[in-house]
Amino acid sequence: MKTDTAGVAAKKSMVIFLLKPGELTLKGGNRREFVRVLRRNLALVTPGTGAQVSGAGGRFYLRVPDAAAAPLVEERLARLYGITGWARARVCEKTPAALSAACAEEAAALYAAGARSFKVEARRTDKSFPLSSYQICAAAGDAVKEAIPGFKVDVNTPQAVLTVEVRERAYVYGAERRGLRGLPVGTSGRGLLLLSGGIDSPVAGCLMLGRGMGLDAVYFHAAPYTSEGARQKAITLARIAGGYGLGIRLFVTPFTEVQTRIKERAPEAWRTVLLRMAMMDCAGRMAKRLRARCLVTGESLAQVASQTVENIRCTESTAGLPVLRPLIGMDKEAIVERARAFGTYETSILPYEDCCVLFSPPHPVIKGRLDEAAALYQSLEIDGMVFAALKAAERIRCGFPGEGRILPAGGGLLP
Ligand code: ATP
Ligand code: MG
Repeated sequence: MKTDTAGVAAKKSMVIFLLKPGELTLKGGNRREFVRVLRRNLALVTPGTGAQVSGAGGRFYLRVPDAAAAPLVEERLARLYGITGWARARVCEKTPAALSAACAEEAAALYAAGARSFKVEARRTDKSFPLSSYQICAAAGDAVKEAIPGFKVDVNTPQAVLTVEVRERAYVYGAERRGLRGLPVGTSGRGLLLLSGGIDSPVAGCLMLGRGMGLDAVYFHAAPYTSEGARQKAITLARIAGGYGLGIRLFVTPFTEVQTRIKERAPEAWRTVLLRMAMMDCAGRMAKRLRARCLVTGESLAQVASQTVENIRCTESTAGLPVLRPLIGMDKEAIVERARAFGTYETSILPYEDCCVLFSPPHPVIKGRLDEAAALYQSLEIDGMVFAALKAAERIRCGFPGEGRILPAGGGLLP
């Protein structure tokens, strides 16, 4: 008897989330991989909650044994790529009576939240269930109207939709939340994001995560020209972006020497392009050591002088691997909108100077020639400095799991 009571109590506090995986158009092996990685990601982003994933095809179930962990799980689901929607569901016995009772309970919650009209939608994959989908809707609707007379049925424009799913178990849920969609992080290889403290690059990173790319990030720091505040800003941005992935390793890379060399030796008009070339050079080498297959930047065509197509050609010439620029055709307003949606905007606009702002020439080269750029870069004799910067990079784990952990220096990844 005692055990039974404990069992009931445990069941009561258990929460189940029903998840709808996205990109259903994927086929065959791709689809299997998508599902495998999504399941892994679900487990990785809910550590310590005891959450268990099950299901495959069109539905996943996430069982969270303690209701107290549910808000944290919801927060993580809101940032998880690869699901089109999710709902917190009630599980009930697979009988018409139990379903109706569960619908009435769920409807009471919707009514309390302010909804005054509703409709019921039913899906039945278990064809042995005695009622058809239509009959389930009718019975559930009657049960709700009887329990809450003020709650009206409106099949055309309901304020709330109550969904019943009769599968291997029976589920009832009210509010369905929209998921981020996209592909699960880890289905599209790895990239290295060049993360500045600005508005653009964090957005670029979040967009690539949404195409399934795992990310590390590099921030080039030029102390004392740039402040500790600027470094912290980059860390905060990596942390926010990492929340959409499986965390991000941020490599804070000291670039003061490189910058000083450019200032000393290069024609003033070329400074910014050459600095970008040095960044690409360093990031490209770093990416190879991290087994990243591309670099990612926040460049947008013609936004500033260094982002004309001619200058982009110069800057990417030192990268040594593809450079992806998800924002290339977006205007600033659209980028800002995305930054607000991802939650990076408020941090990005904090007033800490960027190394490039302090360093910008008043009349920069607009259409740099590649051969000239290559010759100037060569004349800087900067190779050793770029390598030293790479070796001195400080590594910080940002975003869960392992938040805030400073990784030991060395460790094989950046020899
Ligand atoms: P952002 O808003 O991302 O800083 P931006 O419009 O200010 O971009 P630039 O400053 O020209 O443009 O930088 C272009 C891109 O170069 C950035 O989007 C980023 O990917 C990279 N970048 C610039 N500065 C740094 C830095 N200090 N560390 C790492 N990457 C950088
Ligand atoms: Mg910038």
